[in-house]
Amino acid sequence: MRKDSYISKAVATAFVVLTVSAVAGIVTMIVLYNTEISTMNPTPRPTFPSTTTGPPPIMRLPRNLMPESYEVFLQPQLYTRIIEVVNVTSPNQTMLFTGNSTVYFQCVQRTSTIYLHSKDLTVSDPVVINQNRNEIIRVSTLKYHEDESNFLEIQLNDALEAESNYSLFLAFKGEISENLEALYVSSYLQGIPAHESDTNAERFLAATNMEPTDARRVFPCFDEPELKAVFYVTIIHRRDTIALGNAEILGSNIIHDDWKCTRFYPTPRMSTYLFAFTVSEFTSTPSPHERVEIKTYTRPEATAAGHAQYAANITGKILKFYESQFEIDYLQKKLDQIALPDLNPAAMENWGLVTYQEGGLLYEEGVSSLLHKEVIAILIAHELAHQWFGNLVTMEWWNEIWLNEGFATYMSYFAVDHVEPSFKVKDIFVASDLHTAFKEDALASSRPLSPQQEDVQTTFEIIEMFDSITYSKGAIVLRMLADIVDERVFNKGIKMYLWDFRYKNTVQNNLWEYIQKAVDEDGGHTKVAKVMYTWTNQTGYPVITINTTNGEIYQKHFLFNDSSESSLWWYVPIRVMSNTSESSLVWLDTSGTVKKDEFISKSGEWILANVNYTGYYRVNYNLENWERLLTQLETNPHRIPLMNRGQLVDDAFNLARAKLVDVTLALNSTRFLRNEKAYLPWESAVRNLEYFVLMFDRSELYGPMQVYLREKVRGLYNFFRIYTDNSKVPEDHSSQHNQITVVEVACSNGLPECMTMARKMFAKWMNNNTNNNDLVKVRVI
Ligand SMILES: [Zn+2]
Repeated sequence: MRKDSYISKAVATAFVVLTVSAVAGIVTMIVLYNTEISTMNPTPRPTFPSTTTGPPPIMRLPRNLMPESYEVFLQPQLYTRIIEVVNVTSPNQTMLFTGNSTVYFQCVQRTSTIYLHSKDLTVSDPVVINQNRNEIIRVSTLKYHEDESNFLEIQLNDALEAESNYSLFLAFKGEISENLEALYVSSYLQGIPAHESDTNAERFLAATNMEPTDARRVFPCFDEPELKAVFYVTIIHRRDTIALGNAEILGSNIIHDDWKCTRFYPTPRMSTYLFAFTVSEFTSTPSPHERVEIKTYTRPEATAAGHAQYAANITGKILKFYESQFEIDYLQKKLDQIALPDLNPAAMENWGLVTYQEGGLLYEEGVSSLLHKEVIAILIAHELAHQWFGNLVTMEWWNEIWLNEGFATYMSYFAVDHVEPSFKVKDIFVASDLHTAFKEDALASSRPLSPQQEDVQTTFEIIEMFDSITYSKGAIVLRMLADIVDERVFNKGIKMYLWDFRYKNTVQNNLWEYIQKAVDEDGGHTKVAKVMYTWTNQTGYPVITINTTNGEIYQKHFLFNDSSESSLWWYVPIRVMSNTSESSLVWLDTSGTVKKDEFISKSGEWILANVNYTGYYRVNYNLENWERLLTQLETNPHRIPLMNRGQLVDDAFNLARAKLVDVTLALNSTRFLRNEKAYLPWESAVRNLEYFVLMFDRSELYGPMQVYLREKVRGLYNFFRIYTDNSKVPEDHSSQHNQITVVEVACSNGLPECMTMARKMFAKWMNNNTNNNDLVKVRVI
């Protein structure tokens, strides 16, 4: 159409301007970054000192002492209620905590120095005992390293001997954090305060969040994920509170007028970052499970109102799903979940005591959005998957945190689909992770999924690893591998992997080795490590270009900044189908151009590559094939798999952004939406068009753009009208998502039907503002 092509030229010009300025920004950042890092000394992993006078470690603990267990006593002095005493103006609250710990360890190499981690703690009274001979070894000095290592260095008068067992006792005190780190305070209101300064309704609780390097701020410890140990924990807390820990309670008794002592069973052998406890007045809701006692703790008011019920209903089912999926039982007798008023991140998988932000766990019938159940289900499924991937089997070092997070994300697709099949959210989750990863990984500043250990040393560098590459690319790459080797073979491999590495640590090569074992046993030929190396150890992903007239295909590193030089290439599994043939798998295993029969359109049929988008790459075609696919989408979209209907739009827009296709093609890829009812293609189009809308805001093109969008959305808006006009929502979640999208697009682009509906609802609510049920209903769609 003429109008479209007029828009397209302007769009193309704007693209060039925007892309050039973005590229200039990225280049400046890279130059600055390179200048910055060239002045820094790299911090290589320390080697064992060969004698007791060897070089001191730099950032990582030496492996000459291996912890086996800890006895930890902790006494947070916090009150859960402020009790104002007559004539005392300041309340009685205190943020102090005290404690002591004894770590039992084996010496594997002679040394007279003990290095462990301690941060923001005042440590005193060190006692080192040779457990084999029951002899005290005198300590000469205790020194904190005032740098990023957070080392506590303990010099001894005599050396520790190899193959002997020792213990180190330390007393310590510290402050409960008010910044959601380490051991921290959180607060909430119980009931309604009588007046502004009424503190009677205020309640406090103590909670922990250690990942990645904050256990050292609660007790001195060997705070690295590989240095696993068993923890014997005792919490001394105010008598009117309850303490929860990683393991079940062994006993609890009042030890003083004001204090209670709660002792826990030993934890499984685990990493320090999984250590957790809470002290609160919370109450619980049970979940059914034949073997594990599952409880969901929350504020007493929320428990009484049943807000934890939805979480409790699905938790036992999710746990059972994983137990049968992995063929390994959850390895503790209890599993607590707790909804904290404050927590950063959204949730943390501490073994046996999973913490959540309240909003991620609580559901209020009639008030919470129906779609909020998805958020709760996906969060619980993610954290429970960690009980195996992360807690039972842990990455050796933080550079491979994707082994935890990628798996938890990937497994949660299946768990949610199992417990809430009616949500039909699997495709939505996959598409969302795919988009997130695609977006981040198309920047020249992206990073490999699995960088070198040496590049991830300081706490800051470790925290930076918790990004969308780790979570989303991690999950998508696992999904691709499962598709290559077959999901059944993949699952067999990970079962063996989990079992053989239980209570241990792994590197990604261990995973490849076990999937390979399953492939070999099944008679497959995929070389897992060789293929996967290109996806996990290289930055980015490719775009595959297919010419269907002669069957030529080649790959190229996909970058928004197309002028970036890259010689990277990947082992690319391509599932390909046409409108006359079923899907088959073809490999592109070279950096050059090759010709393959499967990609030739012999009698004018369309060819579709990356069927179901199981591969982590984009696809470009010759113009004729694009047109054939777009025509198919307009005439009978269901011939093209749903994932591809969304992805064709996403690819077209992103290829245009990288200047690999004309922007007209991107806009044309939305032609079929006039008749499309499914959520994924719409979500993809709306997300991509948002970029255009933002660009044209306040320009003369904004008007034509709105007309274009109104035209596209009218059909679907009318489809949902029977629900929207009556403040109702459709049955399935995918339609609910789509109804929200469609109302948003329709009203923000001035579709008259939508504007009338919104005005009518608002007027109705204004006239009857004591009863805002209708507004609530609009909100919950
Ligand atoms: Zn996680």
